[in-house]
Amino acid sequence: MRHISESHPKALAETAFLPGPVLLLGAPGVGKGTQAQLLVSKFGIPQISTGDLLRGNIARGTKLGIRAKEIMSAGHLVDDSIVNQMVLHRLQEEDTHRGSILDGYPRTLEQAKFLDQTFSNPIFLPRLPVIAISIVVSYDRLLQRITGRRICPVCKHIYNTYSNPPRVAGVCDLNGSTLAQRTDDTEPIFIERMKTFNEQTAPVVAHYREMGRFEEADGDQSVEAVNGAIMQAIAKLRRVSR
Ligand code: AMP
Repeated sequence: MRHISESHPKALAETAFLPGPVLLLGAPGVGKGTQAQLLVSKFGIPQISTGDLLRGNIARGTKLGIRAKEIMSAGHLVDDSIVNQMVLHRLQEEDTHRGSILDGYPRTLEQAKFLDQTFSNPIFLPRLPVIAISIVVSYDRLLQRITGRRICPVCKHIYNTYSNPPRVAGVCDLNGSTLAQRTDDTEPIFIERMKTFNEQTAPVVAHYREMGRFEEADGDQSVEAVNGAIMQAIAKLRRVSR
């Protein structure tokens, strides 16, 4: 049997690299989820998506889920204290010890400060500061991406009716399940979410830019090209922030 380092030298080099906590920032629909999944498979560290954690609570009908559902369907942000505690809890799991990909968090300056403070505590391995990458896409492109987005409820594969349709409309290519549309992926809610993003999340981008732990990636390219830009940004930022 061939040794793993012979068959996957690149994968091995990437696993030896310590990514630490990586934030993916950007407006709704820039591709944070898709890029987070790619980084997860390259680095072998978990994705922490506050949107997914909240939707999980809604699906399970928890008290938190019942409260969050109304706020989310209006395109507004769930309270900082709820989201911060959810993330703090998740970061204490062992699979985060080499790093994590935070997707959709922090979304307010208060959340960013909470996260920075959390990672300044040495109990959080691998004791590296947060680095942030903002994916940038034009408004019109985002509108198409959001309203065209369809998700397989079983394998979570993401399609787009404009740019990446399934072979049969409304059906997952991989397992034949009926594709679902997120209830907040409509135009009026998109407009509200963009407003929320510009008012509350733009200061998060400014915060990490000022700290010098920030890079932008052009999100209006192929998924692979965006991923290449993000990988380069991570390598560059980890050289300067340890
Ligand atoms: P997402 O899947 O990241 O687009 O998030 C979907 C919705 O969940 C958002 O529009 C918010 O209502 C809520 N949400 C997700 N992450 C956060 C967060 N960090 N802070 C507050 N609300 C959040």
